[in-house]
Amino acid sequence: MKRTLYLKFLTGYLILGILGFILVSTLTNYMLQKQVLVSEARTLYTECTEIASSYAANYYDGSMELSELHSHLETISRYMNTKIKVTDVSGRIMIDSSDLSGFSTDKTIAGFNISDFGTRYYTVSRFYDTFSEPYLTVFAPITPNYRVRGYVLIHKPVRDISDYSYELLNIVYITLLLIFALSFIILLIFSLLVYRPIRKITSAADAYLDGDFSQKINIHTQDELGCLADTFNYMANELNTLEDDQRKFVSNVSHDFRSPLTSIKGYIEAILDGTIPYEMQDKYLNIILFETERLNKLTNSLLELNKFGSHGKTILYMKSFDINYIIRMTALTFEGICREKHISIELILSGKTLFVTADMEKIQQVIYNLTDNAIKFSHPDSSITIETTEKNDKVFISVKDSGIGIPNDSLKKIWERFYKTDVSRGKDKRGTGLGLAIVREIIQAHDENINVISTEGVGTEFIFTLSVTKE
Ligand code: ATP
Ligand code: MG
Repeated sequence: MKRTLYLKFLTGYLILGILGFILVSTLTNYMLQKQVLVSEARTLYTECTEIASSYAANYYDGSMELSELHSHLETISRYMNTKIKVTDVSGRIMIDSSDLSGFSTDKTIAGFNISDFGTRYYTVSRFYDTFSEPYLTVFAPITPNYRVRGYVLIHKPVRDISDYSYELLNIVYITLLLIFALSFIILLIFSLLVYRPIRKITSAADAYLDGDFSQKINIHTQDELGCLADTFNYMANELNTLEDDQRKFVSNVSHDFRSPLTSIKGYIEAILDGTIPYEMQDKYLNIILFETERLNKLTNSLLELNKFGSHGKTILYMKSFDINYIIRMTALTFEGICREKHISIELILSGKTLFVTADMEKIQQVIYNLTDNAIKFSHPDSSITIETTEKNDKVFISVKDSGIGIPNDSLKKIWERFYKTDVSRGKDKRGTGLGLAIVREIIQAHDENINVISTEGVGTEFIFTLSVTKE
């Protein structure tokens, strides 16, 4: 299987890392440099105004000698690692802390104009070509008696400031590296928690695609993936049983069609080639008729069942009718066979009439199928009871016999299509095993219930409900 999802995560992670480093080395670097420069300028400016208002002003007051001012400034500049100048308004340098030869330098800064600073108190430049590299320069005017007499200038190499910002940037790089390493660990955990379950699900889905529904997905987390795995497992199980059911259904149908067809074919061939003599033909033609009837019944039952099923709701023609009357009429149709088998049908019906709302034809078929079973699986000289009981809004209809009964382990299966107990196979060759499947579909379509109580060798009772017609 392709590991594309994992590769996507990994590529995304690497791109994020590279972008992070590019961003830090450009934007963060730029902003950091700027911020450090501004903050340094502010510090220098505070110092500069301090010098201008105290030492330099004292000099102009006459309370301090030029030499004394020079030595003060020299100490401060060494301490701060800067160059300090005192100029007059025209730019003539009176003191240069870096000039050790003398305090009165008599040099003029060519082109000096204080308005070059604009509205800012600092500038970054080579300061009128005084320096060979960029310097941060801040200035403060010396204003004794509110008159500008000169300026204090402090210079600091931009290189020194940059060195500091690079140190800060290194901290950012180390932090970024740590985040990168940490997110790699998170990626690993993520792959363990998310990617591996997803792989399990996709490999199971592949197996389902190949028709192998036996694979189970072992994810037991309480999150969306766990939920998805549960759904997949359920779906696989359903598909598996559905496929099994379908296979069973098709094999049952073909088996039930093949055996009567084989015997019909065999007998007809024997009649045609004279193996069966003329006087015996009646007997075999009757068998053929019997088998044809069976095939007819099978086809009708299958068609009937096909109308139900899981797709869409069965259309019911609901109407109000007397269930007692339907039971009486159905019992009458079995009179002939009952006489033959010496079986009596006893009707215990609640009231003269009992109106229910249901699909009459389908309910008649339910009663017919249940009575047919009761007679089929009853011993001769026994009795069958059909009873109606009204309780609340429901009518309970029971069909009870004292026949062979249903083995306990078959009780759940009798509703399945084509299911016949082993005992009934010997007793009833004509049965298709579809009768009760039809009964259940009809009752379920009515949203009613049907139950069976049976003891092997004692008898069986089927009870189903219908809704009483509301006045
Ligand atoms: P068909 O109804 O198509 O003639 P069938 O009667 O064999 O065939 P169902 O009515 O679906 O099929 O019944 C399924 C099986 O349940 C029967 O074959 C029988 O084994 C068992 N069964 C149903 N009713 C009874 C009963 N009253 N007593 C004993 N066994 C029963
Ligand atoms: Mg039946």
